[in-house]
Amino acid sequence: MAFAEYPVQSLMYITNRPELVFTEGKGSWLTDHNGKRYLDFVQGWAVNSLGHSNEGMIAALEKQARKLLNPSPAFYNEPMLALAKLLTDNSCFDKVFFANSGAEANEGAIKLARKWGQKHKNGAFEIITMNHSFHGRTLATMSASGKAGWDKIFAPQVPGFPKAELNDLASVEALINDKTVGIMLEPVQGEGGVIPATREFMQGLRALADKHKVLFIVDEVQTGCGRCGTLFAYELSGVEPDIMTLGKGIGGGVPLAALLCKGDVASFEAGDQGGTYNGNPLMTAVGAAVIEQLVAPGFLEDVRAKADYLREQLLALTAEFGLAGERGDGLLRALMLGKDIGPQIVEEARDMGPEGLLLNSPRPNLLRFMPALNVTREEIDQMIGMLRTLLKKLA
Ligand SMILES: *Cc1c(COP(=O)(O)O)cnc(C)c1O
Repeated sequence: MAFAEYPVQSLMYITNRPELVFTEGKGSWLTDHNGKRYLDFVQGWAVNSLGHSNEGMIAALEKQARKLLNPSPAFYNEPMLALAKLLTDNSCFDKVFFANSGAEANEGAIKLARKWGQKHKNGAFEIITMNHSFHGRTLATMSASGKAGWDKIFAPQVPGFPKAELNDLASVEALINDKTVGIMLEPVQGEGGVIPATREFMQGLRALADKHKVLFIVDEVQTGCGRCGTLFAYELSGVEPDIMTLGKGIGGGVPLAALLCKGDVASFEAGDQGGTYNGNPLMTAVGAAVIEQLVAPGFLEDVRAKADYLREQLLALTAEFGLAGERGDGLLRALMLGKDIGPQIVEEARDMGPEGLLLNSPRPNLLRFMPALNVTREEIDQMIGMLRTLLKKLA
């Protein structure tokens, strides 16, 4: 079908999309309406942790779809329980609440912290968040985010989110007062440009939270579920947070998110928290199929080996073209270009032939790589080769 025949005018405008309609995906490859193939290093924004149309996920979806779709969130179901146990067995957390999106999980984390503050801290409600952070697109999570301009577009904001600087412990401590109930951050700022919180900062935040009896909250919607080479990114800094949120990779492409906490932080009472689709068996069955693959022996070791390989290749490009280096954890990495040519590279990579390459540029001076965690070395080589061709052309 020609692009002009698609009813694109029926969709509400929210962003500029290229004139492509994607029709199929398998592993690291997507196919558009013209039959052109693209090597996908975006994977739905770090969502498809196991690539497109993973067989384990398909089997879980098919099996569960025939068995039970939705008994009601007020009843237990088997996949909901199985996934909750997988998550508590493989993390430092004791309790799980399921949601449908990262923003919704973060809303839950904010509510949980405020509830805990009402019970244990005289109604303290402020959550210190970081400049340049991203926590979602609901009103409260936009207010928690430190994105430039977001304090104005849907004003007034939800109050209670003073902003500190990432990797500057003094800037966090300066904001702590008797209204503070928590500190929340992404272990690696994803949308902010792949900026890791240092181990020292994470450990300092844990100590600060203990000293002032406030909650340490990690938004692992992007960094969690194997993305950073460990099942959760907090493990990299040797700390145990009080609350964690998951999204994106936990569903491997389907809408699923989770809010986790330590047992003594779980302070919701009946009716405080809910949601029609929370813990629905179809999505939690897929989530369990994803997590089972991530915790299978050798899987995360393999992610770390491929991350090292990608890092070496990006450093080689840096040397070859005099770029500004690379950074990140695991398979969430950025190549610093030294110039604002990111958006141009993204477009040219997509439009190149016979096969295209899908990349992302959250900041104009860098490219972000978030391939499937089961990407192959050959696919990394192919991506680097395509990128080299483009960098040569632009040099
Ligand atoms: C994507 C993202 C979110 C929002 O998740 P949605 O599923 O889009 O609501 C929140 N926090 C971080 C760190 C993210 O990367």
